[in-house]
Amino acid sequence: MEGKPISKLPDLGTTIFTEMTALANRHGALNLAQGFPDIPPPEGLVEAAISALQEGIHQYAPMAGRPDLRAWICSHYSQRHKAVYDAESECTIGAGASSLIFAAIQALVHPGDQVVVQSPAYDLYGPAVQLAGGQLVEVPLLDASGNWDLDGLLGACHAGVRMVILNTPHNPTGTTCPTGFMDALAQHLEGSDTLVLSDEVYGPMVHDGRKEVSLAACPSLRNRGLAFGSFGKLLQVTGWKIGWAVGPAALTAELRKVHQYDVFSTGAPLQAALAHFLPTKEGVAHLDGLASMYQAKRDRLLAGLAGTPWRFTPAQGGFFQVLDARDIVPGDDGHWARTWTRTHGLATIPLSAFCTPPTPQVRLCFAKEDATLDAAAACLRDIATDHGN
Ligand code: PMP
Ligand code: GLN
Repeated sequence: MEGKPISKLPDLGTTIFTEMTALANRHGALNLAQGFPDIPPPEGLVEAAISALQEGIHQYAPMAGRPDLRAWICSHYSQRHKAVYDAESECTIGAGASSLIFAAIQALVHPGDQVVVQSPAYDLYGPAVQLAGGQLVEVPLLDASGNWDLDGLLGACHAGVRMVILNTPHNPTGTTCPTGFMDALAQHLEGSDTLVLSDEVYGPMVHDGRKEVSLAACPSLRNRGLAFGSFGKLLQVTGWKIGWAVGPAALTAELRKVHQYDVFSTGAPLQAALAHFLPTKEGVAHLDGLASMYQAKRDRLLAGLAGTPWRFTPAQGGFFQVLDARDIVPGDDGHWARTWTRTHGLATIPLSAFCTPPTPQVRLCFAKEDATLDAAAACLRDIATDHGN
């Protein structure tokens, strides 16, 4: 056949998130699979977006993002993490955190470079490293006791490693980076040129009194790394696809060399709406209440599973909960996640999609209205009963 492409990603299909959402829609199932809220965004934000459109903000935003929104992001880091970033040269706004993580990997990873990733990992990192010609080195995220495995990570981080990618709060496990972990990594990397990317899109969503952890708060990692955030997650607007990256000017300059050609500039009226809304009383209250809102959502879902054979460790952060079905069914989570979408009207994400060996574990998004969570818990109880429990 003429015109046959030679794939650069021959082993890759469509993402599990797209697949499960399509399956949920086809079967009219509750979709707790792909990570998006069904909770509406704050009213003031929607009003600000309407005003921005009516005011005629329809043309390109600056390549690096609106200065007032970048100023807000930098003030967010100085307030929350005592980290100083220059809005002009150290902060970039892109089409969701995804576009900037992808651009950073393309800009900074050279063919043959080793990139260390904790597994299971969010599905974007591996293909992005592969496209850059890098070599992915996977280390287990968790040790046998279910704690973040510091020794495992440090063991893989020798001086020749180009990049380490962290993600906290972690998707899909719902764990968070423990206190002291980043400092230990920083100490280990001293004297090397290893870069650190920290995907913190669920940043402030930390539960049970935990403290938010950011690369930005660790001075030596701040100087060798980029931290990424997402307004989609913080404000229930995943479809807006506006995210950011902060990092030292030299890294930001390299990141922007890719960003200016793959995205260039994004969502001008939406950036205007964010810049207007975030400093308002409603905006501040929304962010202050985010962690407790999601903790209550998590607790509501898990309370609905009390007395069932579903096993779980409550998520420490973010808005995903892993459920273990080993006392309900054997084997293959991919099979069961697809089956339960059809038979019980509940779509979830099989954990094996994140490169873990198939175990009967599924990930649920609890960024949902209470009624959705209650309906999902009822489906989960039915699943357990119908499998003879
Ligand atoms: N990183 C992680 C860990 C995620 O779960 C997501 C999911 N949305 C992203 C990055 C991408 O964020 P955005 O939607 O802002 O591109
Ligand atoms: N980050 C979302 C999740 O983990 C998915 C985003 C996407 O569909 N690419 O569910």
